[in-house]
Amino acid sequence: MRDGLSAPKYIKLNIFETTMQRAISLQINKYPEILKTITQYNKIVNEHITKSFELKTNSKNKLHKALYRETRNKYPNFPSALIQCARDNAIEMLNGNKYKKHTQKRNDSSIRFDLRTAKVFLKSGQLQLTTIEGRKKYKLNIPNYFAKYFKWKVKAVTLGVNKKRLKLKVIVEGNLPKQAINQEVLGIDLGINNFAVLSNKTFIKPKHIRNIKRRYAYLRKGLQSLGTRSAKRKLKSLSGRERRFMRDFNHCLSKRIVSMNYGSFALEGLKGIRNGRKGKVFNRMRSNWAYFQFRQFLTYKAEDIGKSVVLIDPRYTSQRCSKCGFADKSNRNKGAFHCTTCSFHNSSDLNASINISQIGKILFEQAVVNHPIVTTNEGVSSLHSDTPEFSHKLHPLEGSSCHKRLSIAALWYS
Ligand SMILES: [Zn+2]
Repeated sequence: MRDGLSAPKYIKLNIFETTMQRAISLQINKYPEILKTITQYNKIVNEHITKSFELKTNSKNKLHKALYRETRNKYPNFPSALIQCARDNAIEMLNGNKYKKHTQKRNDSSIRFDLRTAKVFLKSGQLQLTTIEGRKKYKLNIPNYFAKYFKWKVKAVTLGVNKKRLKLKVIVEGNLPKQAINQEVLGIDLGINNFAVLSNKTFIKPKHIRNIKRRYAYLRKGLQSLGTRSAKRKLKSLSGRERRFMRDFNHCLSKRIVSMNYGSFALEGLKGIRNGRKGKVFNRMRSNWAYFQFRQFLTYKAEDIGKSVVLIDPRYTSQRCSKCGFADKSNRNKGAFHCTTCSFHNSSDLNASINISQIGKILFEQAVVNHPIVTTNEGVSSLHSDTPEFSHKLHPLEGSSCHKRLSIAALWYS
């Protein structure tokens, strides 16, 4: 047994949460007073960042004392409540990159309002904004499909500049439907060879995705080496197209997975992994926003229908044998998994996804013990079956002569 395998940890488990947040994107016309407010706001944020570097502080109080008067005098029309928003925004940006970089906002970066400076009435479609010309009212055009959010609480409003219009993002908060904890947990391993492998032996390896990604990579390479202005423009539109394509794919895939007969889904999470032990999974996931987006989509689609999601600590999920629990680097050889103790054979991605589902199950069981309010619905688990529409390819399971078979609980608690 390997050191470092202590009790399984989770990074996020949504059954403890009682509320959920959603973002509603709306568009409004480019009113000149709003554009001016945005420009000044971003200038003020930048001045705060510069000052914060000068004073070597991230204290709101100190920054306020140092800059507030000066800012008021410099921008007499700028609403004071928005100066506070700008200050908080600056400090968050600095905290976000741990004071390593002297980041600056662009003139047209998005700006954030709080509940004092912006009011949104979704039902009547009204927006009240504090601008440099005072409080203004605007009419919002809210599509019908947002009707379910009309009763939710508005938490924050951000405003960004688009090519043609202003992009208004309203963060609303509502009650999370009661999460069912199905004893059957579907483990999902996001990887390089396969976009995703599910613990029910489903391999999601869309050929067209790989081909399209390759094509984009090829086109990008050519354009980058050209370096002309029109090449740069072309690059930008290309990345937009690729983004939209992946977005659509992620929507479809997460919808399909969420509708499977499982009450809970387990995936690898990243947050909370300590420095220096991030490893390959971390790098792979961070460099690929598509995985991140997939997780986001899956989580919110699951929440909507009362299913739960757990993000687990990704360490050792690819090295551990899902049959006997022995974890070692030598178990894995690229795409193939071969346990050196019990000679269990499998695809390494499938092995990882089974590990993920086992760990997820333990975490859910713990959660039920620690939080008796949470209900389980065991009845659903017996319904589970593999969806026939997915093809699956599996290495034959070999070698059940496992002399040292450890239950996963024994291993992960040791
Ligand atoms: Zn084994």
